[in-house]
Amino acid sequence: MEINSINTEPTPHITHDMVKCGICRSEIKRGASIYQEGLTFGVVCEKCYKNNSQQDLELMANLFLAYGGYFGKLKQKRFTVYKTIKNLMAKFQPAKDLDSLIELNIKMMHQALLYGVTPQELIHGLKILINE
Ligand SMILES: [Zn+2]
Repeated sequence: MEINSINTEPTPHITHDMVKCGICRSEIKRGASIYQEGLTFGVVCEKCYKNNSQQDLELMANLFLAYGGYFGKLKQKRFTVYKTIKNLMAKFQPAKDLDSLIELNIKMMHQALLYGVTPQELIHGLKILINE
């Protein structure tokens, strides 16, 4: 048999079978767990799935859809979760009425997510800070 007769098919393009997490945009490698059950938006990586409730994942996806960005986009490695939340609190002015309080909460939550703070971490951190 001649060498040329073994494979005359053109080499197929090598495709990157990678999917990005809908929350943190990390690449989900082929074969890794992809979670989608019950979620109305794309897929999430194992880490995001394990660190957040389904409700929180929905909330996060909606905030990124409305305001852009992704989880951990602005994450600063030298800042702890506590320090990040403390900085966020300093950044936002206290709300004057209920409408602005709701708006403030949404904005703060979105900012927290950009800095890589999960909704649960934010709530926990705010409780600690308020009691200080
Ligand atoms: Zn993720």
